[in-house]
Amino acid sequence: MNHRPAEEASWSRRFAGTGHRLTAQRRVIMRHLAGIRRYLTARELHARLARSHPRMGLATVYRTLEMLRELDLVASTPRGAGEAAYLYCAGDHHHHAVCTRCGRVDDVPCRSLPGFERMLSSSYQFRLTEHQLEFYGVCARCS
Ligand SMILES: [Zn+2]
Ligand SMILES: [Zn+2]
Ligand SMILES: [Zn+2]
Repeated sequence: MNHRPAEEASWSRRFAGTGHRLTAQRRVIMRHLAGIRRYLTARELHARLARSHPRMGLATVYRTLEMLRELDLVASTPRGAGEAAYLYCAGDHHHHAVCTRCGRVDDVPCRSLPGFERMLSSSYQFRLTEHQLEFYGVCARCS
């Protein structure tokens, strides 16, 4: 479940391109998120990093996640009362298959959209410009 070095190079470029620095702490957070493949809140991620990085504060984790969201390196979804959960999400257009039992997220390619787009166009005179889809179900290991 490890990301590739080329991916880390792309993180650095994304940071540099927006005037941010990929600091050591931000890299730790990125690596952890990229390896985990599930949605985590700032508090959950902070708790996971507490043993290996005891000096990393919750505020740092939270600010870094928000920055990563603005840089389009993570996706976020509302969780509970006013909290957000974050998922590492970079690279080409794809969708997420989320396991409702274990929380595992698999990236799945975008398929079958042209037929749907034609239906929207012919039946609703709706011209599709973008879309967001997330699938929920039970993963292979949980079923
Ligand atoms: Zn993604
Ligand atoms: Zn599962
Ligand atoms: Zn798509």
